Amino acid sequence: MEHFDAIVIGTGQAGPALATKLAGSGLSVAIMERKFVGGTCVNVGCSPTKAMVTSAHAAFVARRGATFGVEIGDSVRVNLDTVLERKNGIVMKSRIGVTNWLTETPGCTLIHGHARFESPTTVRVGERLLTAPKIYLNVGARPSVTVKGAEATPYLTSSTILDIAAIPEHLIVVGGGFIGLEFAQMFHRFGSLVTVVERNAYLLPHKDEDVSLALRAMLEEEGIRIRTNASCIELNQEGSSVSVAVNCSDRTNRIFGSHILLATGRTPNTDDLGLEAANVKVDQRGFVLTDEHLQTSSPNVWALGDCNGRGAFTHTAWNDYEIVVDNLHHGTRSIADRIGVYALFTDPPMAHVGMTEKQARALGRPLLLAKRPMTKVSRAVEKGETIGFMKAIVDAETRIVLGATIFGVGGDEAIHSLLACMYAKKPVDLLSEAVFIHPTISELIPTMLQEMTPLEMAH
Ligand SMILES: Cc1cc2nc3c(=O)[nH]c(=O)nc-3n(C[C@H](O)[C@H](O)[C@H](O)COP(=O)(O)OP(=O)(O)OC[C@H]3O[C@@H](n4cnc5c(N)ncnc54)[C@H](O)[C@@H]3O)c2cc1C
Repeated sequence: MEHFDAIVIGTGQAGPALATKLAGSGLSVAIMERKFVGGTCVNVGCSPTKAMVTSAHAAFVARRGATFGVEIGDSVRVNLDTVLERKNGIVMKSRIGVTNWLTETPGCTLIHGHARFESPTTVRVGERLLTAPKIYLNVGARPSVTVKGAEATPYLTSSTILDIAAIPEHLIVVGGGFIGLEFAQMFHRFGSLVTVVERNAYLLPHKDEDVSLALRAMLEEEGIRIRTNASCIELNQEGSSVSVAVNCSDRTNRIFGSHILLATGRTPNTDDLGLEAANVKVDQRGFVLTDEHLQTSSPNVWALGDCNGRGAFTHTAWNDYEIVVDNLHHGTRSIADRIGVYALFTDPPMAHVGMTEKQARALGRPLLLAKRPMTKVSRAVEKGETIGFMKAIVDAETRIVLGATIFGVGGDEAIHSLLACMYAKKPVDLLSEAVFIHPTISELIPTMLQEMTPLEMAH
């Protein structure tokens, strides 16, 4: 039995920071990783996808070159090998960086292998048995594969598509959520014919209808085919092709393609952790149940990042790390204080903070709406990227921003001033009276907020 002060399982976005922080305060820490150090974001998530989104954007801009007076010729060719080589370089630099961080931190021991609980304070990794009074889970999630016919049909996931050998002729993306839409636009820009199949009536079904419809219009305008209300999705192999059935009443109604990408959600990596031996409880979908300080049902175990189901982003995993460390030092930081914020990295991106309009309306309070199309944002006009809009929902009595969306060029950056105002708990006048830099996308946020109208009267 090897004794440590703390054990961290998983090297995702929270684990390495926590392990090195604890080791830095003089504790002995073991951190385990069964696959790639750095976890999802570094290896098969944010970094590789955003690197490839950048290549796709370059192809898109090159094709539009003549609009800006830059004549490249008719044929823009995407060299997938170079795209992947660039992406792999970025991934490897981060993976090696995190590995070195862990191995070079005194007091921190990186162990490669699958960890499994044997008791609330004991973990087995292969032949090694390790014990610690405190154990932190940062085991993340993996692509869900729950679609009918998947067992007998070749398919790609968000991980395997990152190493695809050639650009698919016709990629069928099953799932119109964040991951599916980023890949759909990316591969369409690489040269694939792309069809998105979504079982709900709208893409991103939990977002407001105007956001979802604008996003759909943008993707369709680019040439991506979208099939919503696909109530009975079933995969099939058809000789050397694949197909996806979409209609319950008509099984001959199928979309034929060369490849299928399954982007139908993520399953937490908690089924093979031996959680019962540690008395750690999970919900119906396998997410670890925690309190607002990330403590599980076991007094010895905490759960951080995607595996606790309280966030599905790198920034939420990082915030989990900050909350745990703060509480170890008798602080009061809590997940309850976190304001939801995220971006869909299509081009243009869609960034959102706080409540949707739907959620705000459900409060039953008087509301104000501010909304401005990107056609009325001069920087967007100058860039030739006028798709989308920015909008904010404000409580009419307190004048506090309840939520905001910026679907448009630079929206992923510009959203942060609204987020800061929400964290400051200040009335929206803080922003509407501020002077922003011209010409920027953010600059029109104050202008938009000066033109708020009662929600019922606005569209
Ligand atoms: C395609 C894609 C794109 C994304 N893009 C974005 C984005 O743009 N922005 C954003 O904020 N988020 C994005 N995400 C989400 C983001 O990657 C995750 O939210 C983030 O990585 C946080 O994960 P985590 O810290 O919970 O754990 P993870 O990063 O998932 O890491 C968990 C680690 O634990 C290891 N592990 C699991 N079980 C065990 C075990 N029993 N023993 C040992 N090791 C184990 C795994 O191998 C893994 O390395 C994206 C995800 C995907 C899939």
